[in-house]
Amino acid sequence: MTRRAIVTGAAGFLGSHLTDRLLSEGWSVVGIDNLSSGHLDNLSLAQRHRNFEFRRGDLRRKLRLPPADAIFHFASPASPPRYESDPIGTLEVNAFGTAQVLAHAQGLGARVLVSSTSEVYGDPQVHPQPESYWGHVNPIGVRSCYDEGKRFLEALCMAWQRQRGADVRIARIFNTYGPRMAPDDGRVVSNFCVQGWKGAPITVQGSGRQSRSFCYVDDLIEGLVRLYSAPADTGPVNLGNPRGETTILDIAKRIRRLTGARSPIVFIERGKDDPERRRPDLRKARRVLGWEPKVPLTQGLARTSEHFRVLVREGKA
Ligand code: UDP
Repeated sequence: MTRRAIVTGAAGFLGSHLTDRLLSEGWSVVGIDNLSSGHLDNLSLAQRHRNFEFRRGDLRRKLRLPPADAIFHFASPASPPRYESDPIGTLEVNAFGTAQVLAHAQGLGARVLVSSTSEVYGDPQVHPQPESYWGHVNPIGVRSCYDEGKRFLEALCMAWQRQRGADVRIARIFNTYGPRMAPDDGRVVSNFCVQGWKGAPITVQGSGRQSRSFCYVDDLIEGLVRLYSAPADTGPVNLGNPRGETTILDIAKRIRRLTGARSPIVFIERGKDDPERRRPDLRKARRVLGWEPKVPLTQGLARTSEHFRVLVREGKA
């Protein structure tokens, strides 16, 4: 019998890739999105699939959700400019939205996989970050809507699991990049690609010495699919690339080259509470999921840059 999944945030970057993957594995999928940061364009492949249905809906309000065997909860703004421009909405979707998802799943006996984030570690003082690290978060800073929103999401999932036996999996997702990142969501890879193809200045924030570890989207989706099937008591798992750590200035130089090297690199003000370093400790994911990212940064950036070249040429970015 066909398994049925609900994907919240289905029109977003990760939600749409996950939707395509589930459809390709024979699931039927109901995608839900309020289109506040997602785009229907991301679902053009899914929309042609007979097992896909899209419903526009906002999880911050009570929704009539369909029956399902699984709920993949990806609805939330995720880039710093997006969540900082709607901190209340970000907290609400991660609090009320997650509560709604858990309650609905419980009634059906469905499994829930939620998207958490490496931001639960804040500006980490332990490097790389293992799941056992409690983090270093400014609870009232500009990023707190997202950091604390996701920490609340994790706490709520664990409470439901302990108190009511909910069947939950928690993915702590580190920086991920690839086609379908929104060209205007202000993330580093998408920004630099759009700027590079337009010949506009590439905007490095601060000195560019801060680092991130970048995981290509196809690898991340494979990690999510494996986590879904992991044992019930797995707890949060880091999903990201332990080998892709690089400085933001290095990313700027690489993308500048990939996009024809017409853009100057300029240095602009850095966002508040921007983490200095971030890289996943991947031991748990390796052990429990047998998973590890495969796509090297050079290859992933080339594919991503090509995606943005087309968007810029078509006037969509
Ligand atoms: N960044 C930058 N220029 C940009 C966008 C981002 O230098 O146009 C930097 C930002 O300061 C941060 C890093 O890139 O240090 C990663 O930012 P992003 O928003 O992609 O993700 P984050 O890891 O902060 O969630």
